[in-house]
Amino acid sequence: MKRALITGINGQDGSFLAEFLLSMNYEVHGVIRRPSIENSTKLKNIGHIIDKIKIHSCDIENQLAIYKLIEYVCPDEVYHLAAQSFVDYSFGDSFSLMSTNFNPTLFLLASINQLNPDCKFYFAGSSEMIGEPEEYPQNENSKFNPRSLYGISKLASYYVVKNYREKYNLYACTGIAYNHESPRRGYQFVTRKITSGLANIYHGKQQIIELGNIDAIRDWGYAPDYVRAMWLMLNNPNGPNDYIIATGIPHTVRDFLKIAFGSLRLDYQEYIEISKKFYRPSEEIPLIGDSSKLKRELKWQTTKTFDEIVQEMVQNDVKK
Ligand code: GDP
Repeated sequence: MKRALITGINGQDGSFLAEFLLSMNYEVHGVIRRPSIENSTKLKNIGHIIDKIKIHSCDIENQLAIYKLIEYVCPDEVYHLAAQSFVDYSFGDSFSLMSTNFNPTLFLLASINQLNPDCKFYFAGSSEMIGEPEEYPQNENSKFNPRSLYGISKLASYYVVKNYREKYNLYACTGIAYNHESPRRGYQFVTRKITSGLANIYHGKQQIIELGNIDAIRDWGYAPDYVRAMWLMLNNPNGPNDYIIATGIPHTVRDFLKIAFGSLRLDYQEYIEISKKFYRPSEEIPLIGDSSKLKRELKWQTTKTFDEIVQEMVQNDVKK
């Protein structure tokens, strides 16, 4: 039986990955911060599998704690998903972003290299590493041009992963994932903000949703498909490599609104207000990923269309 360790196991991706690995007969270990354990509402994504997984309370920003964890669990595969993942952070948050998003990657790789060099390592990279693209769509050879501290923190980790792969021969790789959604998406992201707001409107608890630029374009995929890609990357017969994980299909926030509201026979235009507060710097070329390498080499496929993802999210929030 293979043993996997997931950082950020109670997040959207971590929880889907844990379910997937359990279905593949893995022994699944997860890392979460102590405040999350004490606050049981924060464990909502893994509540239904909590008896089947092993949870470790660990401060991943502490090098010694990481070292001891790797020594104790002795995993075959590590999936490093924990991060402060919202791009539009506040002033104060920006100072802690590097220590949260970069240091643990280095601590994990250094510990694996010392203690357990056969352990495979997946790092959750992001399209924000490409940031402001020069071409459309983007692939593994596209230029990195991060435009947020979040993107910079992910890119720094990407280079450390690459360095450990090349210098120490570790099986370490980065998935450069574009936006991926599900009913477990965080409420601060535009998709969940819309579906949760819509559910409130439907139940008469809210009148409008305040949004930024609804003509913004994104490549939105389905989170369970993305965690399968992570596993494929760690079980690659050709060895470790970095891959773009994306659908390649552009949609606007407006498309999302139309489908979401349309599924409840409502007209989104009556329920939204545009606010400059939520505007981001303008994007000349949209972030749209070309995942042909992943499809060709690892036979990865998506299982849900954009419409289906939106509808699943709406149904889930309306039921809640
Ligand atoms: P991101 O791609 O990681 O920034 O994911 P988000 O879900 O936060 O944002 C996706 C896109 O929706 C971005 O281009 C935003 O500019 C756009 N957007 C428009 N209105 C909003 C809003 O009210 N909140 C958020 N979060 N994004 C918005």
